[in-house]
Amino acid sequence: METKRLPRVYSAARPTGRQHIGNYLGAIQNYVKLQESFQSIYAIADVHALTTVETTQGLKENCLEMALDWFAAGIEPEKSIVFLQSNVPQVMELHTYLSMVVAIGKLTDLPTFKEKVRMHPQNVNYGLLGYPVLMSADILLFKADFVPVGIDQAPHLEFAREIVRSFNFRYQTKVLIEPQMKATATPKIIGTDGVNKMSKSLDNDIELAADEKTTEKRVRSMVTDTNRVMRTDPGNPDICNVYAFHKTFSPAELCAEIDRECRVAGIGCVDCKKKLAANLNAALAPLRERRAELAKNPARVWEILHDGAQRASLIADDTIRDVRDAIGLAQA
Ligand code: SF4
Repeated sequence: METKRLPRVYSAARPTGRQHIGNYLGAIQNYVKLQESFQSIYAIADVHALTTVETTQGLKENCLEMALDWFAAGIEPEKSIVFLQSNVPQVMELHTYLSMVVAIGKLTDLPTFKEKVRMHPQNVNYGLLGYPVLMSADILLFKADFVPVGIDQAPHLEFAREIVRSFNFRYQTKVLIEPQMKATATPKIIGTDGVNKMSKSLDNDIELAADEKTTEKRVRSMVTDTNRVMRTDPGNPDICNVYAFHKTFSPAELCAEIDRECRVAGIGCVDCKKKLAANLNAALAPLRERRAELAKNPARVWEILHDGAQRASLIADDTIRDVRDAIGLAQA
């Protein structure tokens, strides 16, 4: 008798190396929470990365660094399946089958494709065009019930759902299931420049695993309420990114005090930042300790990822068998 499985969530992220606070608050924290009530499958999307990278130098290291941060942040291999996308090649096979039910015009019309072409005019490759199909294959391969996405990513998921309908209609099957959106509050974490979304490429990030001194330095460099020029000028915490961070990392009493004192110039930005750096360092200390411990044994991390790929492959094999069958391919 088939036992009823837990609802499944799937998510993937490109290997961007050491993770920053924006990655943590925007995604990783949610991954950790989801693994408590879902069968969670998380991929490090190294194949997706190939669509835009100019060199693969450092790609492996980036995968390892990212995995270290994920595990240190609380993603547990016993609860979640974590693997490298390239290590479950069934996704490439499903991508091929799905590509037969997607019109080229649909892909070239996608705003994300146009944006990528604008950003990488010297490298408009086939992989870039097929990117949404590969992304859909990721999700559908694991028959994910839910995909945690922010509202801005909802069109990507809708694309995957449309592929399911086209595929199931073409082959008169129900083998692929339409994933549902698990609406997730993905707060836009602004970087140290006070303007742009936190991003490694913009060098406005604060790494989770940075040491205390580096964290203090990064916090010191944060742009505050730009109207507050002198220490004696009153400030406005509502428009200050430092205060936004306090609201996440500092106790409510301190936030209330800063909110009050900033407005009457009772606290200076230097002090305010010192308090934030101290609270950030305190909050991240356990994660950093776990990471340092894990980093002593990278072979163990690769082993966990290998094990994750094996577990993911079991699910993937089932789907591929069903899909080939639905298409009418012979399975000799
Ligand atoms: S005191 Fe704090 S909240 Fe106020 S402007 Fe300075 S850094 Fe921002």
